[in-house]
Amino acid sequence: LRRGQALRIILPFYGGMKASVWKVSVKRHVIGLDLGGTNIVGAVVDDEGQVVAEHRTPTQAESGAEAVLARLIETGRALLSSPVEPKPCAVGVGSPGGIDAETGRVVFPALNIPGWEDMPLAARLSAALELPAFADNDVNVTALGEAWFGAGSRYRDMVCITIGTGIGGGVVIDRRVHHGANHFAGEIGHTSIDLNGRRCVCGSQGCVETYAAAPAIAESGRRLWESGIPTRLREMVSAADEVTAADVAEAAASGDAPCRRIIESAARCLGAALANVVNILNPECIVIGGGVAQAGEALFGPLREEVRLRGLNVATENLAIVPAALGERAGVGGAAALALQRVRGCGTK
Ligand SMILES: [Zn+2]
Repeated sequence: LRRGQALRIILPFYGGMKASVWKVSVKRHVIGLDLGGTNIVGAVVDDEGQVVAEHRTPTQAESGAEAVLARLIETGRALLSSPVEPKPCAVGVGSPGGIDAETGRVVFPALNIPGWEDMPLAARLSAALELPAFADNDVNVTALGEAWFGAGSRYRDMVCITIGTGIGGGVVIDRRVHHGANHFAGEIGHTSIDLNGRRCVCGSQGCVETYAAAPAIAESGRRLWESGIPTRLREMVSAADEVTAADVAEAAASGDAPCRRIIESAARCLGAALANVVNILNPECIVIGGGVAQAGEALFGPLREEVRLRGLNVATENLAIVPAALGERAGVGGAAALALQRVRGCGTK
């Protein structure tokens, strides 16, 4: 018995159940692809964000744009052959670099994939997989994943921050990513919090990521290790240059006082930047992801305090500041959300 037949049989008898029966019958599957520096992660995802099949393969970014595209297509084909019903009806992909989300073309190179600039990513995927395809920047896609299926799913307007080598940001307004005129909206890491502050790779000074991203936290951890001040870091790693931001976050979460001070200092810098964001955008929720978020309340306590201290009362009153919920699945979940949001006529046969 196929779904369509079941529907025709059931509906005359259970008119009152029409809505729920119909919802089951139009359940959609899409493919989400997350192009990372190390791995391509792909998944078949349903319209409630459940992963029903998964496939991953090494990115091998150094092999160049055509080879990386071939591995994305291969991942898509592997997922299309997975035994799911209904078959996936669209593809979404998150890629590093600047992406024109309207056309799905790479407009600003991702530094680690030679030749990736000007790649018509969505068009090439669509032609190879014979499905509608949509592309956006990986940080935007992660934000969309948290907005649709993760920590921000109860809110319409949210900002998602990922603390890593830099501080990436995605702005979701009315459940859609805000891209800006040149596809660069959401670069919260380059919000300056000090006119005469540290030099940043972007050419400006005092950008919050020079104080609160993983390299700055790791550097403070290394100085702490060398200082001789008693800290759990000395039990965790055997040399100062082995200290990572994740180590500092872990030690802070376990109550190590000097590491808590490092995380608090980063949190206050981030809080100052986010207070500006809150005053401008008045989101309902800020989601924080990345390894440093593992510090838990050592990060979130002072961060919330700083945002409330500096943000306008009306903007911070009901503001939620919460950890990301999807972890590494935010990428595929968000790519799937992108496909679900953009595709037309899918699953309505
Ligand atoms: Zn900067």
